[in-house]
Amino acid sequence: MRGGSVAVVGGSIAGCAAALAASRGGAERITVLERADARLRDRGVGIALHSDRYDELRDAGYVAPEMPWAPLTRRVWSVRDGEADHGRAIGEQPFPFRAYSWGSLWSELRRRVPERVSYRSGAVVTGVEPDAEGVTLRLADGHQERFDVVIGADGYRSVVREAMFPGADASYAGYVGWRGTSPDVADLPADGNDAHNIVFPGGHCMIYRIPDGAGGHRLNWVLYTAPPQVDGLHPDLRTPTSLPPGRLNSELTGHLRALVAEHFPPYWAARVLRTPAETTFIQPIYDLEVPHYTSGRMALVGDAASVARPHIGGGSVKALQDATALEAAWVAGDSWEEVLANYDARRGPVGAAMVALARRMGDAQVENTPDWSAMDQAAFDGWWQEQNSGSDRRSGFGGHSMKGR
Ligand SMILES: Cc1cc2nc3c(=O)[nH]c(=O)nc-3n(C[C@H](O)[C@H](O)[C@H](O)COP(=O)(O)OP(=O)(O)OC[C@H]3O[C@@H](n4cnc5c(N)ncnc54)[C@H](O)[C@@H]3O)c2cc1C
Repeated sequence: MRGGSVAVVGGSIAGCAAALAASRGGAERITVLERADARLRDRGVGIALHSDRYDELRDAGYVAPEMPWAPLTRRVWSVRDGEADHGRAIGEQPFPFRAYSWGSLWSELRRRVPERVSYRSGAVVTGVEPDAEGVTLRLADGHQERFDVVIGADGYRSVVREAMFPGADASYAGYVGWRGTSPDVADLPADGNDAHNIVFPGGHCMIYRIPDGAGGHRLNWVLYTAPPQVDGLHPDLRTPTSLPPGRLNSELTGHLRALVAEHFPPYWAARVLRTPAETTFIQPIYDLEVPHYTSGRMALVGDAASVARPHIGGGSVKALQDATALEAAWVAGDSWEEVLANYDARRGPVGAAMVALARRMGDAQVENTPDWSAMDQAAFDGWWQEQNSGSDRRSGFGGHSMKGR
């Protein structure tokens, strides 16, 4: 399918990759409309990509070795054990991931978006009006523009999805991810190549090293647990939104800090508690599935299409794979109908399988945690296997394999 005008709503990871896909697919005029006017690169938190998925995405031309990354090889799960500085390891597993800073991964993807693509920052889409032959987008500045095809890469609160499937919203999983980064990387165990998962009743905290974009590293952590029942918090969480740095109320921050002080081994507690509170933020955790990835002349990619809880470590992989599948469908299809039907058939089942696996992981790792301190390596392996037992080739920890697809 060659020619035509395409709008991509959202210019984050999925949006940049979708613009690249549309360009390679042969679209004539491509416009990316991104709400943020500040540079997105400032989103400084970590993203981990499974090494095998990275290799596939590199071969597909969506990621490249020059994107700064830090290797991770093993993940160690630990509980507090009295005053033992690093606590006690209850299980270890291979963890072949590449750790990125979100901002540097995005910058490199942005750089790959061809110059002929018009990338418009500060462009907010407020209305999406499909008809039989295309889609009209209304912008916050009062303008409207019509395109042959619109790709929604506008995240979990997607306005494109709302036009396709009204009411298909993200649902709050009942817990949050409290995130932060710090420069505190001087004496990490195993030269920093281990990821650490500190576990406690009702949650866990992933900690790993990411590149700082200037040749050094930062420590990245994300703690998952149910928030306390405090006034004014829950309505915010149930309406999909995140609480950026500076907007966390002191009751919530106080609760999380007390949890860390009580349940973390002293070494890791110090690292999390030394992170300046005003630089930490909260992302409520959501589940999202859609009946289809396409409808009429509209398609969804990345978090706009489906959100799998982050325990699966595959959200960005899924977004990038969506783009590669879109490119393949584009190249193979002779009409918009063929391109979009082919894309939906390839990606719909993958999204649903990943959401299901991530739900099982959230249940086991946060909502119904085991008695971690009673676990040894054998018990840990069985517990991990149980979460993964229903997985098929379309899901899998770190994202599914594209080989043979
Ligand atoms: C706590 C947590 C940890 C995670 N850890 C990992 C990990 O380790 N590995 C991994 O692979 N994934 C991880 N993920 C998932 C990953 O961050 C996302 O899946 C991935 O970034 C895909 O993003 P996206 O581009 O689809 O959406 P987003 O990054 O949300 O981008 C949507 C873009 O659309 C723009 N936009 C929205 N509405 C409009 C509008 N109306 N008009 C114009 N623009 C608009 C926004 O400004 C934004 O830039 C994690 C997620 C969470 C919450």
